[in-house]
Amino acid sequence: MTASSSLRSAFALSLDDWVDWTVTNGENRFRAQQIVDWLYAKRAKSWDEMTNLSLPLREKLISSFSIQRPPLVRIEGSADTTRKYLLRLVDHRLVETVKIPASVHFDGAQSDRVTLCVSSQVGCAYGCKFCASGLAGFTRNLEPEEIVGQAMAVEEESGESIRNVVFMGMGEPLANLTRVTKAIEILNAPWGLGIGARHMTLSTSGLAPQIEKLAEIPIQIRLAVSLHGATDEVRDQIMPVNQMYPLARLFEALAIWRSKKAQKITFEYILIEGVNDSLEQAAILARRAKSLDAKVNLIPYNTVEGLLWKRPSERQQDAFLRVLTRAGASATLRREKGHDIAAACGQLRLREETAEGTIRPADVKIHRSEKGD
Ligand code: SAH
Ligand code: SF4
Repeated sequence: MTASSSLRSAFALSLDDWVDWTVTNGENRFRAQQIVDWLYAKRAKSWDEMTNLSLPLREKLISSFSIQRPPLVRIEGSADTTRKYLLRLVDHRLVETVKIPASVHFDGAQSDRVTLCVSSQVGCAYGCKFCASGLAGFTRNLEPEEIVGQAMAVEEESGESIRNVVFMGMGEPLANLTRVTKAIEILNAPWGLGIGARHMTLSTSGLAPQIEKLAEIPIQIRLAVSLHGATDEVRDQIMPVNQMYPLARLFEALAIWRSKKAQKITFEYILIEGVNDSLEQAAILARRAKSLDAKVNLIPYNTVEGLLWKRPSERQQDAFLRVLTRAGASATLRREKGHDIAAACGQLRLREETAEGTIRPADVKIHRSEKGD
């Protein structure tokens, strides 16, 4: 560990937290605004740059807080396509985040904004059968500053401003709700990264009680639900979480969400040959989507090394889509690999550094216990 890693991260504090800190430390509260201005608007890399703060205050800040962003270990992909960034955390774990250019689609629309697909945990405990992120199990939750740090590190490397954030990287954001909510506050705040709430999408595998908790928080972020099966029988085979929160329970929570939020829910539905791509599933999915006025985003399955499934033929994909649209459900299908945000960022897997310094996918189960809240 570096010396600074024992310090608290400055990016874990909201403006209100800074006000409390300044007042507790005998400083005028307007210093809090100056501090966040240096951190987020001016992107200061050291406390010494903050010349409008008194020297004693800066010394206090230096001995209490780190302003390090997670260092970039590796970048994959070119500047004008989907680009994957690998970041090192203070405990040397690695986490991935994906920058998606404005030309890539989400929810059937072409975004005019650069999107960042952020991770919310190292690994994932939920073990969905199609997903690379769940393969090696769960390691730990990310702290708010490690989520905000993904956006800051990528903005600073690319010189581009992130205007859209999707929580579709590694991990189940609702199993880390308190820290994710804090990160959303900082990403959204005018004094922080200033990303509009409507330009943030949280994707969940369907943790019903946490969906209800999030619905109580008065911020208009969007919700995407990884559905992938229209009946319990099919969903059980794909997502173990369905045994904990079967579809009836999930839809109860979604109805509560819908009653509190203006934005439509999106259902993500990966098409997997012979598993969930029957036209009967399409018909039931259409009914379910219409019952909540939700949009369906069909994603042909991308093969994951170590997993057996395949995507259906294009004919079958089209037939599935046709059943949905004929039934009056709003649905889109993006076939080109890497041209759909959900598909582009659904491929993240836990990686470890070997003693030789190379990086390989983690193939060991670290531990499956979950410290979520
Ligand atoms: N834990 C959250 C966030 C992770 S995003 C959740 O499950 O919603 C997971 C999304 O990535 C999936 O819903 C899917 O849209 C996409 N994804 C994951 N694996 C994929 C694969 N093999 N092919 C295509 N999309 C995939
Ligand atoms: Fe976890 Fe989501 Fe992957 Fe399921 S789809 S294993 S919940 S990251």
